[in-house]
Amino acid sequence: MLNIVLSGPPGAGKGTQSEKIVGQYQLIHISTGELFRKHINEETPIGAQVKKYINEGQLVPDKFVMDMVEEKIKEHSHSKGLLFDGFPRTVAQAEMLDKKLTEYETSISGMITLTVPEEELIQRIKQRRNMLGRIDDQKVATRINVYLEETLPVAAYYKSRGKLFNVNGVGAIEAVFARITTAIDRLKTIDQAQ
Ligand code: AMP
Repeated sequence: MLNIVLSGPPGAGKGTQSEKIVGQYQLIHISTGELFRKHINEETPIGAQVKKYINEGQLVPDKFVMDMVEEKIKEHSHSKGLLFDGFPRTVAQAEMLDKKLTEYETSISGMITLTVPEEELIQRIKQRRNMLGRIDDQKVATRINVYLEETLPVAAYYKSRGKLFNVNGVGAIEAVFARITTAIDRLKTIDQAQ
């Protein structure tokens, strides 16, 4: 399987690029943020419990995240691969993910991080807020801080395993996507050699 983690701060373009990646490599898209929003829209018990964290721009406790992700991995364990979007967001989640994937005799092939300067992120998030009216985007500063504090250690986790690929997220959608495919082709080669 080709299992990729796509990460980047809020507003880095993860959603747009995820769609293109899953199309090109025929992967299953697992976006924890999207799954949570679906729970909230459908007013499920999980939705009711996670709503307050999301609206405050805080991370949802690992237990909710892992239960949901484990179910998806099980469902798609015979696919060509998985694209994790917005997950793992903590080192604990990354460790649990590694353990879970081992049960299916697979592993993370690599993590791609989209890098975008903070001033541009703030501009992009404000634009998206106007277009989509996403409540959690109002907590722009909180979300960027949460990302810096809790999610950057996840990048360090994959880096220490030789699995981190930084991609410049500034520029036209197609230009960024071309950089991503170059990174994926590289990480596939490294993954196969291991
Ligand atoms: P996203 O659409 O990925 O930016 O996620 C929106 C919100 O959902 C985040 O700000 C968090 O509150 C929550 N969330 C999504 N994924 C995770 C995760 N892996 N761990 C904890 N909270 C998450």
